[in-house]
Amino acid sequence: MTRPLVVGLTGGIGSGKSAVSRAFSGLGVEIVDTDALAHELSAPGTQGFAEIRAAFGPEVVLASGEIDRAWLRRRVFADARMRGALEAMLHPLIAAEALRRISVWRGAYGIVVVPLLLERGGFAGTVDRVLVVDCPEAEQLRRVTERSGLSEDEARAIMASQLDRKQRLARADDVLDNSGPLERIPAQVETLDQRYRRLAHERNPAT
Ligand code: ADP
Repeated sequence: MTRPLVVGLTGGIGSGKSAVSRAFSGLGVEIVDTDALAHELSAPGTQGFAEIRAAFGPEVVLASGEIDRAWLRRRVFADARMRGALEAMLHPLIAAEALRRISVWRGAYGIVVVPLLLERGGFAGTVDRVLVVDCPEAEQLRRVTERSGLSEDEARAIMASQLDRKQRLARADDVLDNSGPLERIPAQVETLDQRYRRLAHERNPAT
């Protein structure tokens, strides 16, 4: 049995990955979102939660019993060793669950959303194509600070830990230009959807 075409969707923080993946989802395309998986796999009661609490101490848990994600983000940004420890805990769990979900996809192709697809190697063997959501860095910063309660400094620190725009674009197979208004997303997604269906069909004429 041939597996479906796997498109890896990536882009910097605030570039519009979620907005673009929602548009694909609206066309019925199956999506695996690794950020959502990171949340699920560290929810109270999970192995991920227990490992994070053991490594970071009780301060990482809010009164509600959930992981304090803002605290955790600040902590790992201040300390590369702790960041490595967190990634070593969560990334294998995320990769295993993502592969499990991809293995039950029914469509010709699907999308796995991986913010650090190009910065980390974990999904290199899984994705067939790289789709980059692109917008100018100043626009990323504006969207992130408006949306998320992150300060401009925090947003800049996260952006500095990611590839810059030029490096990311150099590694894209396909680019979705999200420098304009949200209304420009659907038509581009429809064009890409047709391209991916055609590529999947060329690879496996039964699809
Ligand atoms: P990411 O998932 O890449 O971090 P999001 O899709 O969550 O980015 O987008 C970040 C924020 O910017 C959200 O509040 C989203 O609604 C907004 N946004 C995304 N694309 C655009 C756009 N083209 N124009 C204006 N705002 C946008």
